[in-house]
Amino acid sequence: MKVDWLIVGAGFTGLVLAERIASQLGKKVLVVERRDHIGGNAYDYYDEHGTLVHHYGPHLFHTNSEKVWRYLSQFTEWHPYSHQVLALVDGKKVPVPFNLNSLYAVFTPGYASKLEELLLKHYGFGSKVPIFKLRREASGELHVLAEYVYEKVFYGYNLKQWDLKPEELSPSVTGRVPIYISRDDRYFQDRYQAIPKHGYTQMLQRMASHPNIKVLLDADYREIEDEVKFDGMVYTGLIDEFFDYMHGELPYRSLHFEFSYHPVNTYQEVAQVNYPNEHPYTRISEYKHITGQRVYGTTVSIEYPMAYRREHNLPYYPVPREENRKRYNLYLSEAESLSKRVLFAGRLADYKYYNMDQAVARALGSSRNR
Ligand SMILES: Cc1cc2nc3c(=O)[nH]c(=O)nc-3n(C[C@H](O)[C@H](O)[C@H](O)COP(=O)(O)OP(=O)(O)OC[C@H]3O[C@@H](n4cnc5c(N)ncnc54)[C@H](O)[C@@H]3O)c2cc1C
Repeated sequence: MKVDWLIVGAGFTGLVLAERIASQLGKKVLVVERRDHIGGNAYDYYDEHGTLVHHYGPHLFHTNSEKVWRYLSQFTEWHPYSHQVLALVDGKKVPVPFNLNSLYAVFTPGYASKLEELLLKHYGFGSKVPIFKLRREASGELHVLAEYVYEKVFYGYNLKQWDLKPEELSPSVTGRVPIYISRDDRYFQDRYQAIPKHGYTQMLQRMASHPNIKVLLDADYREIEDEVKFDGMVYTGLIDEFFDYMHGELPYRSLHFEFSYHPVNTYQEVAQVNYPNEHPYTRISEYKHITGQRVYGTTVSIEYPMAYRREHNLPYYPVPREENRKRYNLYLSEAESLSKRVLFAGRLADYKYYNMDQAVARALGSSRNR
């Protein structure tokens, strides 16, 4: 078999590149995917109760990029949805990111109003103050508030998620967690927030339906690379695996999901409830809230973070630590030496957490240079 491009991985990155190369350059593309479905971690499907669920955990689309929004809108209609999250703190469900409403959910009205006044005076309405900054800078009652939020909302969740203390992670991650001085309970504030009306899988299927694209599922590219002739390759898999782990393994966190069906209208108040302090799991997600699907009964997933072990479970999150970035850079040098023939892109090949819009933007940017 002869194609112009071999694309390894049928996630967002691989399929956006396939679509661009096929439709804009008129080239023939073979996408090879080792899982039995397209969509990578954004894969969704209807479970046996007819509920649309996200197989690898809740995926909320949000972006400020008009370009990404317009591009994806060619392949789907949208269901408008703004994500909301509550965290169980001292027996109460509190909006996160922690904001002015959260103050009133955990403290007495008098004390909450005093803290609100202090926050408004020092930082102003609408600002997002990183918890680390507040812990460092604030004194008196605001310092006590910072310690409270750090301990009750952030610390336990972070420890479960990464199995590391916040100070052991790159400041680029921990430095971002804010107290939001606002009454806005939405988890994201991006301009565009919505879910593909009939799911991510259908949107990505439409992308892959160009006549120049063929998709081969259930196949590792190594099984077929000798049988397929190609001029160029896009590789969206693990970069350390591509180079046979010659510089050692890049660490990841993995997850385990327990899905369960409940014969009730809704299981919880919002799509996501976090459990920072109790239980070994981090969050429970209820998909009906996200998709807006109107069916009786509801499906939720309980999410347990765990160590990643090659061939036992899947790599989900690159671990954002300086030492890992250094190791990745060794692989990047290897990748650069192949750059005429192989494009490395996506969350596994770049060893970088991307939101879906970032993965799309990265792929659109790379396709322009082909
Ligand atoms: C739990 C979780 C929740 C998330 N929630 C959100 C969210 O709410 N909002 C958001 O914007 N983003 C979210 N994301 C991020 C989103 O999943 C990624 O941005 C997106 O999946 C990146 O796509 P990708 O194509 O780069 O990688 P992937 O989706 O991982 O696709 C890579 C594909 O390559 C395949 N592959 C690898 N090696 C080989 C090989 N050797 N041969 C053949 N195939 C191979 C893999 O099987 C995989 O399907 C979340 C991620 C996780 C893990």
